[in-house]
Amino acid sequence: TDALVLKQLTKTYKNGFEALKGIDLTVKEGDFYALLGPNGAGKSTTISIISSLTRKSSGHVEIFGHDLDTHPSQAKQCLGVVPQEFNFGQFEKVFDILVTQAGYYGIPKKEAQIRAEKYLNKLGLWEKHDVQSRLLSGGMKRRLMIARAMIHEPRLLILDEPTAGVDIELRRSMWEFLTEINNQGTSIILTTHYLEEAEMLCRRIAIIDKGVIKEDTDIKTLLSQL
Ligand code: ADP
Ligand code: ADP
Repeated sequence: TDALVLKQLTKTYKNGFEALKGIDLTVKEGDFYALLGPNGAGKSTTISIISSLTRKSSGHVEIFGHDLDTHPSQAKQCLGVVPQEFNFGQFEKVFDILVTQAGYYGIPKKEAQIRAEKYLNKLGLWEKHDVQSRLLSGGMKRRLMIARAMIHEPRLLILDEPTAGVDIELRRSMWEFLTEINNQGTSIILTTHYLEEAEMLCRRIAIIDKGVIKEDTDIKTLLSQL
C-alpha cells in the first residue's frame, strides 16, 4: 500500500481564493519525500487538510489505504504531523505533554512514559523533561513537536518546514533523527523552500506552485535538469 494518496485535492477559502487547484500525489511506503515550493504555494494548506485541521473543498485523501473521510480514526492512527506553529499548553511540562498525547491514542501510561523518555533522549531534550513548555527555546519547541508527533509511532510523519529559522547545528541533528527513523521504516514527507534540504534528505520531490504540482520526480533526475 501507499503511505499517502491525494486525488484531485482542491481548496477554495471562504474569501474565494483557490489555494489548491487539484493536487495529485502518491507517496510510497518508506519514501522520504520533499514538497518544495515558494511561500504561498499551498504547502501548509495541503498539510492542514491531511491533518484534518482544514476542510478540503473536493478530492480524496488516503493514508495507508484508509480514506480520511470514511475511516478517520484508522487514518489518523497512521499519521503524525509536526505543524509550523508551536501549539502546546504554555504551563504544561515537557514530559506530561508527551504522556497526554500518548493517551489520545490509547497507549497505556507505563508504555507512554517509556516512549516519552525514549523520544526526549533521541531528540536531546531529556534534561528539559520537567520544564514548562513556555520556557523552551525555539529549537527545543521544534524538537518537542517532533517527539509529540512520534509518540504513537506513526507509519507516516509529515513535517511543515521543520527547520525554518533553526541554526545549522540543530538542523543537522534534526536531519540525522529523520534519516534514522526513515531507515527504520517510517515514511516521511516534509515541506521546505530550501532545495539543499530536499537534496540532502529526500529521495523524491514534488514541486508545488500556485496550488498545482509542477513536477514529481526523484531528486537525481531533477538535479540533472538544473
Ligand atoms: P505555503 O505553505 O506554501 O506558504 P499556504 O498553504 O500557507 O502556502 O497558502 C496558500 C495560499 O492560500 C496563500 O496565497 C495564502 O495567502 C492563502 N491562504 C492561506 N490561508 C488562507 C485563509 N484562511 N483564507 C484565505 N486565503 C488563505
Ligand atoms: P479520532 O478520529 O481517532 O477520534 P481525533 O481527531 O479525536 O481522532 O484525534 C485524537 C487526538 O489526536 C486529538 O486530541 C489530537 O490531539 C491528536 N491528533 C489528531 N491529529 C493529529 C495530528 N495530525 N498530529 C498530532 N496529533 C494529532
